[in-house]
Amino acid sequence: MSERTLIRNAQVLTGTGGPAERPAAGDVLLEGNRIAKVGLGGLDVDEASTRVVDVHGATVLPGLGDAHVHISWPLDFVFDHSGVAASDPGQHALDVAAVTRTFLESGYTLIIGAGVLQPLDDVRARAAIDCGWLPGPRIVPSGTMVAETGGLGDGGPMDVVSNARELRDVVARQCDSGVRVLKLFISGDGIIPQFPSDDVYMNDEMLAAAVDEADRHGAFISVHARGSASVAMAARTGVRLIHHACFLDDDAVRALEARRDDVWVCPGLHYLWAVVNGKAEPWGMTPGKIEASGYRVELKSQIEGMRRLGEAGIRMVAGGDFGHQWTHHGTYAAELQRYVDQVGMTPAEAIHTATRNLGPLAGLDTGQVREGYLADLLIVDGDPTEDITLLQRADRRRAVIKDGRFAYINPELYP
Ligand SMILES: [Zn+2]
Repeated sequence: MSERTLIRNAQVLTGTGGPAERPAAGDVLLEGNRIAKVGLGGLDVDEASTRVVDVHGATVLPGLGDAHVHISWPLDFVFDHSGVAASDPGQHALDVAAVTRTFLESGYTLIIGAGVLQPLDDVRARAAIDCGWLPGPRIVPSGTMVAETGGLGDGGPMDVVSNARELRDVVARQCDSGVRVLKLFISGDGIIPQFPSDDVYMNDEMLAAAVDEADRHGAFISVHARGSASVAMAARTGVRLIHHACFLDDDAVRALEARRDDVWVCPGLHYLWAVVNGKAEPWGMTPGKIEASGYRVELKSQIEGMRRLGEAGIRMVAGGDFGHQWTHHGTYAAELQRYVDQVGMTPAEAIHTATRNLGPLAGLDTGQVREGYLADLLIVDGDPTEDITLLQRADRRRAVIKDGRFAYINPELYP
């Protein structure tokens, strides 16, 4: 029989409820790498054959996830994509390892890559994590980002394509190397004013080819899409994960509604909020640059757009482009705080974007404390449905369980 662990005296936030979901007293039984039983009110087990871990009223919730991750950005990253891409591969691998460990210790057990700076960063990190050499979350690995000739990203450390044939070849090549989510740039980004967010790159034929080729390899396509026209194009061509979606006109919302069951939107709200609120000023993001980026308007539009997506029943997944110095690695759950204080989600709804909405996107039984699901759990002191910001506090994190094993134990709390 596989190893059994009983998490006793917990407040269980199952992640299966509605917007008003709260934790309830109970026990959780793990068997091997799965959740065997969730007993609200408590479970009777044979203690001779079961390891019992008393968590003294701490909250047990699903491990968190982030759908927009660059583990290639080192802990001290400042803008220099090309510099990191050209840096010594040995040093870089250690930098990546420090980031995967930071994710895990921050309560994150699942991440979806949003593009790397050295081609195999995600693929290699996943291999090292999965065989136990390296602490880190489950990874859906991305590869080098893909730009269109002349579009945003051309000239940087990207794969650059001009037509559907070339794009299909890049998708096939990346998938053969182990990549499972491609990241395509199909819109501009106001932060680089010569490539405004409303710009559209690539076309329906190219995206449909990319979706088809990824599908053949058991992979999927994600896009950087800030303007309405790019979002609508991604939705109608079968793109699975749409990052940003800062502007949403009726066309874009209708196209998303038509794909409600197999499309996910990942906003990246905290990044925008932080730039607009001057948090990036020490790194050169002056008030003049913020003005030129149009980010003020974009932030307002994204908040309205998220409310609209919520009403339309489009699944949103938390993901935040973390790793800039003003959105430092380790502060990932700030994204959830913004969903609460800017958009008006309840804390439970915000947590759902990082848990149960994310599992199906990754094709995994994760994100719920539920019988049969993978045992990926976060144990924190306090109730995050009362105060979402406590998910950002290292001193409240007791432990992280991944694949049925204690993958992180807070040394300050358990000497
Ligand atoms: Zn990104």
